[in-house]
Amino acid sequence: MKYVSTRGQAPALSFCDTLLAGLAVDGGLYVPSVWPRIAHGDSAAPFATRAAAILAPYIGDEIETKTLGALCTDAYASFRDPLVAPLRELGENRWLLELFHGPTLAFKDVALQLVGRLFDHVLTARGERITVVGATSGDTGSAAIDGVKSCRNVSMVILYPQGRISEVQRRQMTTVDAANVHTVAVDGTFDDCQDLVKAMFNDAKFREAHRLSAVNSINWARVLAQTVYYFTAIEQLHRVDSPPVSFSVPTGNFGNVLSGWIARRSGANIGHLIVGSNANDILTRFFETQRMTAADVVPTLSPSMDIQVSSNFERLLFEMNHRDGTVTADQIARFRTSGALAVTPAQFGEWIRPVFRGHRATDSETLEVIARIHREHGVLIDPHTAVGVAAAEACATDDEAVITLATAHPAKFADAVQQATGIRPELPAHLADLLTRPERTTQLPNDLAAVQRFVANVSATR
Ligand SMILES: *Cc1c(COP(=O)(O)O)cnc(C)c1O
Repeated sequence: MKYVSTRGQAPALSFCDTLLAGLAVDGGLYVPSVWPRIAHGDSAAPFATRAAAILAPYIGDEIETKTLGALCTDAYASFRDPLVAPLRELGENRWLLELFHGPTLAFKDVALQLVGRLFDHVLTARGERITVVGATSGDTGSAAIDGVKSCRNVSMVILYPQGRISEVQRRQMTTVDAANVHTVAVDGTFDDCQDLVKAMFNDAKFREAHRLSAVNSINWARVLAQTVYYFTAIEQLHRVDSPPVSFSVPTGNFGNVLSGWIARRSGANIGHLIVGSNANDILTRFFETQRMTAADVVPTLSPSMDIQVSSNFERLLFEMNHRDGTVTADQIARFRTSGALAVTPAQFGEWIRPVFRGHRATDSETLEVIARIHREHGVLIDPHTAVGVAAAEACATDDEAVITLATAHPAKFADAVQQATGIRPELPAHLADLLTRPERTTQLPNDLAAVQRFVANVSATR
């Protein structure tokens, strides 16, 4: 299996090289050169077994079947629920897929627990070391840290905006006791943190000297690992041969919903993909107007979706352009300068209308949904999941089977849940003492030279 860039100007890479590269050298994102066909499997098989079978055709012969199986087993043993991604019925034709039973209580664990182990396996085999640098506005940082904290060949530096993430989110990063993990509180915003990371990557000498790598949501292995639960959810429901099942996905960077599109493309029995957004609704507006126009980010009750540029959309755009990298690169460049991107009615009719639906939920609708789901079903859901439930209700017919992805544990966003229901959800036992654990972090100014000095001091190549 080879991987090609969505902008058509980078060399094709193997799976393992794609894993380590993150972004392509032409600025594009890697996609497989062909979409393999993947069969639905045994609903009684363990999640890790299904994961290895579903991922294998995308990985090719670079990682042995037995090794891939062992990596998956190890990754998913870290989940508190033996099913890893269990379904919960929420009334007629409606289900939640609980993706928050991993170590850091958000769906990102499903991918990052495996990606950390893949990194370690590939780097050990090659005798190499890397420095992972990332910026986080909350959930990605803790999931990435937990995924790589036991990797011997990775040093990790995560930047977060000082005072702008929740205490639970910060403590999930700063209380991790691992010598290879470093958190930095930057005196600035999330965008400042992201700009610092981009600047380090654009400094070719620095990037090479410290073997920088990324685990942000444009990393192909993350998108790929997320395709697994779309298959297993349909199998758990015994809906493999019945009318297709639709999914409602609370969306920020278009990563999770793109994974659903890939699962559908490779053979999962999926009907519609319903995209739920909060007030940051660039995708919902695109589905309404066939035009993508950038807007300013506004803070909401579902902060992990407070994103206005959905980077992973470029992978779908590449398909919509019939895999023409030059056309795709052109469109993205124009979007960057003009803030607008339009597709043709033919492209919209072929790729978007038959598959995607979109709904935007305001914060007050989000709170109403949290309260109503608790009243009617006795279940507490977090504000991101509530956006997904609202979108399922707005976009699906009564006779359509819909699974909403529950992307975070309610205790991770306890303030919003308490505001809606009067009940404060409790952290699971393994995090019960989170608020009293000692923290370790470094405060730095929003200054590239200072951050680079810090990274150089802790880098994997020092
Ligand atoms: C990251 C995140 C999302 C958005 O996922 P994308 O892949 O960026 O669309 C939704 N909900 C939660 C809880 C998250 O952490």
